[in-house]
Amino acid sequence: MTTETIESFSELGLSENILKAVTEMGFEKPSPIQAQGIPAVMQGSDVIGQAQTGTGKTAAFGIPVLERIDPTNNAVQAVILCPTRELAVQVSEEIGRLAKYLRGVRIEAIYGGDSIDRQIRSLKKGVHIVVGTPGRVMDHMERKTLRFDQVRMMVLDEADEMLDMGFREDIESILADMPEDRQTILFSATMSKPIMSITKRFQTDPILIKVVRNELTNVNIEQVYFEVKPQAKVEVMTRLIDMHHLKSLLVFCNTKRKVDEIVEDLQLRGYASEGIHGDLRQQQRSNVMSKFKAGVTTILVATDVAARGIDVSGLDGVINYDIPLDEEYYVHRIGRTGRAGMSGKAFSLVARDEKYRLKSIEGYTKVKIEKGVIPSFEDIIGVRKARFVESISSSIKEEEDQDFYNDVLEMLHHSGFTTEQVVGAMAKQIMGVQKNEYSDGNLAWEERRGDRDGGRREGGDRFERRSSGGSRFERGGDRGGDRRGADRYAPAGRSDSRRSEGGGRDGDSRKPSAVEAGMTRLFLSLGRKDHIMPKDIVGAIAGEANIPGKTIGAIDIYDKFTFVDVPERDARAVLRAMDGNTIKGKPVQIDIAK
Ligand code: AMP
Repeated sequence: MTTETIESFSELGLSENILKAVTEMGFEKPSPIQAQGIPAVMQGSDVIGQAQTGTGKTAAFGIPVLERIDPTNNAVQAVILCPTRELAVQVSEEIGRLAKYLRGVRIEAIYGGDSIDRQIRSLKKGVHIVVGTPGRVMDHMERKTLRFDQVRMMVLDEADEMLDMGFREDIESILADMPEDRQTILFSATMSKPIMSITKRFQTDPILIKVVRNELTNVNIEQVYFEVKPQAKVEVMTRLIDMHHLKSLLVFCNTKRKVDEIVEDLQLRGYASEGIHGDLRQQQRSNVMSKFKAGVTTILVATDVAARGIDVSGLDGVINYDIPLDEEYYVHRIGRTGRAGMSGKAFSLVARDEKYRLKSIEGYTKVKIEKGVIPSFEDIIGVRKARFVESISSSIKEEEDQDFYNDVLEMLHHSGFTTEQVVGAMAKQIMGVQKNEYSDGNLAWEERRGDRDGGRREGGDRFERRSSGGSRFERGGDRGGDRRGADRYAPAGRSDSRRSEGGGRDGDSRKPSAVEAGMTRLFLSLGRKDHIMPKDIVGAIAGEANIPGKTIGAIDIYDKFTFVDVPERDARAVLRAMDGNTIKGKPVQIDIAK
């Protein structure tokens, strides 16, 4: 059996209880990294997985780890190292969901910034799987509150990031402290020299897993993406459907559960939609398909697997409600439209944390996907009005016998309504405009002020934290102005005015904005020239000084140096931990900003 032919998790020889959890999570088909990685890890081999976040890599190692834990043995049997506390939390949560039906398996996330005493108490009670950041895991190892003598599996997640953040020595000490016959699994987006030297030293005959790709995209399809908040995706989708008058449309999502949710939401909004996924019986599938082909339903919502088996032509478009986990799925999805020389539209709704997946699709397909502007409420009203007028005019022109309908009008006149009132009420009903729960400004995750200002906003980029409350900062505004001043990153929820105060525009000489009360501004001797990103700074400071990433404030990155705001009470600890330390392998000097 080749991995391309693996169509379901049940073919991977997993236990009932894991399959149940996977089904409940809505996963329909193993992603490529899972199809190849799960069997390799299950057979006990050391594995190198070349995969980024978003490919389903957590389950690729999480499932086999769970399969190999003996819950009757109270010792730590698997250790998963992650570069940041956010990833450690995400990974432990995902494994927790996969372990839902396994009795007695205990998973603990161990990271800096959390109370060490609480962690020690948890570890004493007995934990089977530890998911942690290298600094804190080392700390426990040295205190002997974490023992590795019964560890059978070790996972290095985002190993390249960990090395970039200067965790190499910690990783090596941890690995050296583990039983030699343990299984070592390493995931990394890149296969750099330092990664290869780690694998050489600590892995035995590792199997390299990399997804092979061999398809090219259909370049005739109009491909556009929209930056949309996750909760506004259905709203934006309906606006696009209205705006482009899409009458025959396939909507793709990554999970069966999402299919059901979206169909319900679309139906409530009055859109004729139905869903298909692997849970439907053959008879139900046929019903859904014949209604779609007959045009009774205009929107078919599907998972990738379900869509593969269906034969539809003449679609107006495809909407990617989620960005797929694998680039090739994207190619399959959009290939559903624009067939036989017809034009087709492929719209992708991209949440903030899906953006990098879109970028890798662009890299893979070598096609630039244009950024689209979400139609405004006014735009939608405008097109609906135009269509209403058009359909009424053509109905009048049909010149059929109107007597029956005239009776209706007369009846309404008798009830005291004027013709204007009747027409107004009918227009309201037919146009179906409902009070809109989303204001136009509440749909996109990126502030669109730059667009309105003609894209020339002064100051730097604003990055916001992920909704999960981590220390990852993300860009929240359009890049404006030149690149000589600071790139400014501010955590979500902090004063908006900070952005417009932005870094200087004339090079490194200008002063950044005022420091927020309770914060101390620190000076770091690394900057844009050193290719550092906010996540590198937050990861290093949070990890090394054991402070929560979310307490770190604004970051202004200049060419040769950076200002970062940290809580006053932690400033000393940060100075101690960071001075002379490295970020992304580069030595850094740190001081209180003058
Ligand atoms: P990861 O690469 O592990 O960060 O996973 C990215 C996202 O995809 C997570 O939200 C997972 O829950 C989800 N996911 C993982 N595997 C699958 C799958 N086979 N089908 C659908 N979603 C998945």
